[in-house]
This record gives sequence, C-alpha cells and structure tokens, in this order.
Amino acid sequence: MSADPPSDLGQRRIELAANLAVVEARIAAACAAVGRDRDDVRLIAATKTFPASDIRLLADLGVLDIGENRDQEAAPKAAELRTTPAAQPIRWHFIGALQTNKSASVVEYATFVHSVDRLRLVKALGVAASRAGSVVSCLIQVDLDDVSRSGRSGARPAEVSGIARAIASTPGLQIAGVMAVAPLDADPAPAFRHLAELATQVRERHPEATMISAGMSNDLEQAIANGSTHLRVGAALLGNRRHPVG
Ligand SMILES: *Cc1c(COP(=O)(O)O)cnc(C)c1O
Repeated sequence: MSADPPSDLGQRRIELAANLAVVEARIAAACAAVGRDRDDVRLIAATKTFPASDIRLLADLGVLDIGENRDQEAAPKAAELRTTPAAQPIRWHFIGALQTNKSASVVEYATFVHSVDRLRLVKALGVAASRAGSVVSCLIQVDLDDVSRSGRSGARPAEVSGIARAIASTPGLQIAGVMAVAPLDADPAPAFRHLAELATQVRERHPEATMISAGMSNDLEQAIANGSTHLRVGAALLGNRRHPVG
C-alpha cells in the first residue's frame, strides 16, 4: 500500500463493512431457519443514489453483484468503474423500470436485466444485445398485486409464460428467471410464494431459468424462506438514500 485512503473513504468502508456484517448475519440466520445453504442465495447491492466509490468499496468487501435501477445514473457509474476498476470484476444487474429506448445503453454494462415485463422490451433488448454482440440474462418482472395500478411495472402472472418463450427464442437473450417487488402494504410471504410457483412453471419449459430475484432490506427473510436466490438490498447495506442524481 502506497498510501492510506482518504479518511472519509476509510470511514465509509467501516460503515459499509458493519452494515454488510449485519445483512450477512440476517441472511445466514434466514437460510439456517429453513435449511438452505448460504451459497444458494446471492446478495445484490442496490446502489441507486450512492456514488461509484461506494460500489468500489463494496466490491473490495466481496459484494460483486451491483443493482441499479435508472440508466441515466447507472451508465456513468459503470463507465467510471471501467476507468478505475475494482479489484474483482463487477456484475451489473439492471433492476428498475426500463424504457425500450434505453436498451442499447443498458446492454453495454448489464449482464442481467431483472425488469423484463413486456414483449416490446424483449424485442428491443434482443436487437440491442445482438448489435452489441452481448448476451443478456433476462428475468421476468411480475406484478403480484392483483389490482392492476397504472404506473406499476411488472407483467401479469398470466403473461409470464409467453414472455419467457419470447426471451428464449430471441438471439442475444437468455431466460434466467423471475423477479418481483412484494406489495408495499401487505404480508410479503404470499407474494413470494406466488412468485416461486411462477418460477417453477417457467423452469418446466426453460430449465435454465433458475433465478428468483426477491427480497429487499425489509423482507429478505420472508424471501429466503420462499425460495429467493437473489436478494436486492439497498438501505440495509448503504444507509438512507440520497436524492437521485441526474
Ligand atoms: C431500491 C431497490 C431495491 C432495494 O430496496 P431497499 O428497500 O433499499 O433494500 C430493490 N429492488 C429494486 C427494484 C429497487 O429499486
């Protein structure tokens, strides 16, 4: 080591390490409670509103899966980490509502898109991935609220098999699994159970679709109990969010 990190970065590293230890203990306890192996569950840090320097610190602490939900914010952060890479390569997960016209930008950095919820987006991502010569792993985001509210993202459960088939038959795309955000004001467990059933249905036709992206800071235990393989954790790891940049 040629120099100590600036003290604010050193302080931030200590904070992030402490938060990570708490989250890891929660994950370990939740896995133990239902007899799951810790290694069956991947932790994705949801880093929206936090700077690229935090992502580098998290990568140093062993969190190499990074989730971002707005392309305007994610693209410059990914570029910054390409210029000054972390010690280990980062995997980028796009987890937010995605407009078709952002597809070309997103496929430049994202290995996973968790928020595929309509056929038009499948088509746009396929065109973008083929042009970029990349392969994008797609998860189908499902809206588990029975009452459809405008502005919410997510496919209806009945649409899932058709979207899965479209992804699987599109060059440049792979069907990787399903994703959901639990309804805000209800017990998350039934929603996660429903998501796990949909995941099983998708896997019957597409055995490669093994991912279940579910569980956030407040409901990761219920998600783990109901088969989640990928947690998306923001506030519990990074602290309270700042206002979005850009
Ligand atoms: C921000 C975000 C998360 C993380 O939420 P926390 O409650 O901060 O853990 C998970 N999923 C998506 C899609 C998000 O946008």
